[in-house]
Amino acid sequence: KQTIKEILKDYKKVLHHDITVYGWVKAFRSNRFIALNDGSTINNLQIVVDFENFDEAVISKISTASSLKVVGEVVESQGAGQTVEIIAKKIIVLGDNFTEELQSTILQPKKHSLEKLREQAHLRFRTNLFGAVFRVRHAVTFAIHSFFNKNHFFNVHTPIITGADAEGAGEMFGVTSFDLNNIPRTEDGEIDYSQDFFGKQTNLTVSGQLEGETAAMGLGRIYTFGPTFRAENSNTTRHLAEFWMVEPEVAFNNLEDNIDLAEDFLKYVIQYVLDNCKDDLEFLDKRFVEEQKSKPEKERAKEGLIEKLQNVVAKRFMRVSYTEAIEILLNSKENKKGKFQFPIEEWGADLQSEHERFLVEKHFESPVVLFDYPKDIKAFYMRLNDDNKTVRAMDVLFPGIGEIIGGSEREERIEVLKQKMQEMHVEEEELWWYMDTRKFGSVPHAGFGLGLERLVLFVTGMTNIRDVIPFPRTPKSAEF
Ligand code: ATP
Ligand code: MG
Ligand code: MG
Ligand code: MG
Repeated sequence: KQTIKEILKDYKKVLHHDITVYGWVKAFRSNRFIALNDGSTINNLQIVVDFENFDEAVISKISTASSLKVVGEVVESQGAGQTVEIIAKKIIVLGDNFTEELQSTILQPKKHSLEKLREQAHLRFRTNLFGAVFRVRHAVTFAIHSFFNKNHFFNVHTPIITGADAEGAGEMFGVTSFDLNNIPRTEDGEIDYSQDFFGKQTNLTVSGQLEGETAAMGLGRIYTFGPTFRAENSNTTRHLAEFWMVEPEVAFNNLEDNIDLAEDFLKYVIQYVLDNCKDDLEFLDKRFVEEQKSKPEKERAKEGLIEKLQNVVAKRFMRVSYTEAIEILLNSKENKKGKFQFPIEEWGADLQSEHERFLVEKHFESPVVLFDYPKDIKAFYMRLNDDNKTVRAMDVLFPGIGEIIGGSEREERIEVLKQKMQEMHVEEEELWWYMDTRKFGSVPHAGFGLGLERLVLFVTGMTNIRDVIPFPRTPKSAEF
């Protein structure tokens, strides 16, 4: 069996032969043509049907969204828009439609809002837009594995259910096997987790980093790539409760190596998509350009989607210290005129996405890597600088997105690490296994985390993170 993508690509091999194709009816022009699509490509295969001489019982069942098996001859197409078409000899309707019910679904051929499409996420895969988005998402995933494999990293699977809760990356979802109507309690009324499945309190992972670090301390270069969970109650267009995170961790790397790795990595993946998703990108580019027209003049993107991706790959990212960034923000007229929802008042402030986007989109007009953040706004494991005030953290900020990557050189000195944990109220006993990595042959090392969906947002030009993951999990929303 060949997909429509394969048939269209290698049509010369099958020209003037009879072939069998499968797909769903995208469009149906009653006098002569059926546009058939099987999900393998944005392009439809045109089926030419001599309706008058075809079995009426078959024809009457064919409508938009029905599924077909077609046997016919491949011929060069006379019409514009396609190179080949199939002259149908036999059509089998595999699945016709519950026509009444179809009316209220997004399969009905007309323009539907993204909100409406989201409510029927299980049917979105059939649309041109989501076909393109999810094929590109696949390409991004594939390119990620390919990049690390080429660079001699090992993929390590870290646990989804973890007993470590010290990362502090966000609110956690607890995991329990207790019957919720009958939760065992200790004498003083606390939940008795010693009777739970694992004999202790557990949660869904918020990051594979700490476990990943232990793997890097034996395998050298590793990356994790798995689902992560955060009970974020933020309801933004950039946060999901369940998202996929890529986390490389590299022994013997410092912050500069880490930034170089992040930049090479992002550029590789974006270039891969440019090289391998041409048809889908062109479709998304058109949509992106169309979208801009509905925006006020000064909010419009200066470049098309493909151009934007090419530009990101071509230029070196700006590298700016947190301290420089704060100076820029403090002196900006946006800050002085109170244009920010959260005005920056002093050094030490945590940056919000409005500040990140100002730096990237207005000030530098380039992706920006910020580094050397105040230690108080970053996690305990980041390497302390000699100034005792900042840590070797870095965030990569992208236009239209804000933070796409967060990473750091890790604190490899056990005494400093212990001190930091104490200050930040992280229990050393619970992380005894993590402490071991600093006790036996501790080395400088560094890593970062990339939210897969943020990168997919960027390369597809979509604007809501719910539209780049098949089944989004957000507050009050887990229908499927
Ligand atoms: P943000 O500041 O945007 O909330 P973060 O600093 O909390 O992100 P990290 O803990 O640094 O996030 O996680 C690493 C990366 O994971 C982020 O740079 C981002 O790309 C992604 N990420 C974090 N939280 C989410 C989320 N809730 N949904 C999707 N991606 C996320
Ligand atoms: Mg966060
Ligand atoms: Mg952040
Ligand atoms: Mg971060």
